[in-house]
Amino acid sequence: AVELAMLDSIELLDTKEGKQIPFLALCKVFELIEGTTKRLEITSYIRAFFLQVMRIDQHQLAHTVMLCITKLAPDHEGIELGIGESVLVKAIAAATGKQVNRVKQDHHELGDLGVVAQRGKANQRTMFKPKPLSISKVFTTFKEIALTTGSSSIQKKSGLITGLLASCSDIEARYLIRSLEDRLRIGLAESTVQTALAQAALLYEKGEDADLGPADFQQATEGLKQVMSEFPIYDRIIDVIYKYGISDISNHCMLTPTLPVKPMLAKIEKAADDILRRFEGKPFTCEFKYDGERSQIHYVQESDGSTKCVIFSRNAENNTGKYPDIASAVKQFAKPNVTSFILDCEAVAWDVINGKIRSFQTLSSRKRKVENESEITIGVCCFAFDLLYLNGEPLIRMPLRKRRELLHENFTPVENKFQFATSKDLTEVEDIQDFLELSVKENCEGLMIKTLDGDSSSYEPSKRSMNWLKLKKDYVDGLGDSLDLVVIGAYFGKGKRVGAYGAYLLACYDPDREEYQAICKIGTGFSDADLEAHKAQLDQNRIELPKPYYAVSEKTKPDIWFEPAQVWEVKAADLSLSPIYQAAFGEIDENKGVSLRFPRFIRVREDKASEMATSSSQVAEMYENQKINH
Ligand code: ATP
Repeated sequence: AVELAMLDSIELLDTKEGKQIPFLALCKVFELIEGTTKRLEITSYIRAFFLQVMRIDQHQLAHTVMLCITKLAPDHEGIELGIGESVLVKAIAAATGKQVNRVKQDHHELGDLGVVAQRGKANQRTMFKPKPLSISKVFTTFKEIALTTGSSSIQKKSGLITGLLASCSDIEARYLIRSLEDRLRIGLAESTVQTALAQAALLYEKGEDADLGPADFQQATEGLKQVMSEFPIYDRIIDVIYKYGISDISNHCMLTPTLPVKPMLAKIEKAADDILRRFEGKPFTCEFKYDGERSQIHYVQESDGSTKCVIFSRNAENNTGKYPDIASAVKQFAKPNVTSFILDCEAVAWDVINGKIRSFQTLSSRKRKVENESEITIGVCCFAFDLLYLNGEPLIRMPLRKRRELLHENFTPVENKFQFATSKDLTEVEDIQDFLELSVKENCEGLMIKTLDGDSSSYEPSKRSMNWLKLKKDYVDGLGDSLDLVVIGAYFGKGKRVGAYGAYLLACYDPDREEYQAICKIGTGFSDADLEAHKAQLDQNRIELPKPYYAVSEKTKPDIWFEPAQVWEVKAADLSLSPIYQAAFGEIDENKGVSLRFPRFIRVREDKASEMATSSSQVAEMYENQKINH
């Protein structure tokens, strides 16, 4: 209560732009959050602050929310700060009057550039007090930094950062620098920010004296999270909150072609006979699980006759530049009556001559940006498995059977470009087994099995759902699923591998603690060409010191550290408990984490951001599952 009372008095700054909320007020909330690990407490701090800001100004609220999640724009706009460590070190040196080497040394000692900047500022004598920073000033300058391009962009960016640092006082420099590093590291997950925003909005709408119970807050939170997965734009959602109230957002923020929907994901199923048990008599369909890249194709015809087609990756990145051949085939595979749609597909490398699926590796050698269709050497065919939106109507709440009917009625296969996912509505275990064999023969990974009717067959954006099961040949053969892990370090090679890296350190991600936890060392599965390519690519991400949010024990420390930038798919013989690896530490055994035995490199997952790596709770779940199956 004391802390909440502290939040009660924000003294606004008088600026040219009007009354502004000081950045320091937000930093004080960050500091309170950093001092606790209790989720409810964290939520209450941030909720109290949002509510106050909400009463002051809509735009400043939007900026506050974005600073809390260290984002400048929705993911699909691809606007990122991406400031390298060396630029920050130089800016801190310039703003604190220190030598660059001294800043580097302090960084070594303190392990956190934010703290280095804060201390450097505190020890600095200044003639006059700088003009205080406002939340909006910080946000708009961050955006300016991100959008600065061109020949002297590094100098311009450095200048802007130094300018911001010069105006910092108290604890501001710590959070400013951490934001520029892309992470606040205070344990404030985006999902908590969403919960706090929904709760504050409900209090704002109904009044603080209203009779609101936990169920009301939960409903508002779930509503906001649902909307976020279908309409991922905070400032537009905040606009709707002001206009119509949080209770009504789902009627105003609906699925919209050209805005990416968070994809629905599947749970693992280990055996065909478990499927029947799992679905308890509900009808289901089995589809081939294609091994390519998830592609969400959006299309809209405007009233003036112009058209727009955007293809998003699993990660909500705009991938249209990689698949211009698919975008230009839209008019061929959509029937003439179709004016808008969102299709869920898998784009697969395609052998045009033999009409066959090619490997995932072949697809990954397609260029990320194709300037001209004539330079395309690797053909791609899209296999459509779901239709989320058609002619102005969202379909995601409809049963899959109906969505599939609409898909088949309104689209048509186009040779070498577009097909429907092969599917069969089966009921017998033997038939599922045969269909699984067939999928593998046709170069697929296995089957996706989905409920067909009723509420349980609606499309659930962003959920790893029990209504979609994946059955891979490997699971049936007793081999586990693969893991997607982040490369955070490397060990020097010996013998044949001198000059290259001999092994790498991999980590899973814990979204609650916002940390990467070491899980295993990997040295097999690489061809010589792989080894060379990885070294060249990873060396661009080298950093001098481990990030403060890496959980790595002394015994597994690598020779070289990397930014958490690359995700690798890895297979292992099994998972074991380990006192030296930190993955899911304490979740299964108080003093042990989980590690992988005999890990083997499979491929780079270009389509996954590092935070989408296998989570520590998934690791714990995989460990437990394997105990059951043995
Ligand atoms: P992975 O198991 O490789 O980590 P993932 O986490 O990306 O996969 P999963 O939920 O495991 O996602 O599997 C679903 C993925 O399979 C989808 O993201 C999609 O790319 C791919 N896929 C291929 N065929 C289908 C299909 N018929 N229906 C749904 N997804 C399919």
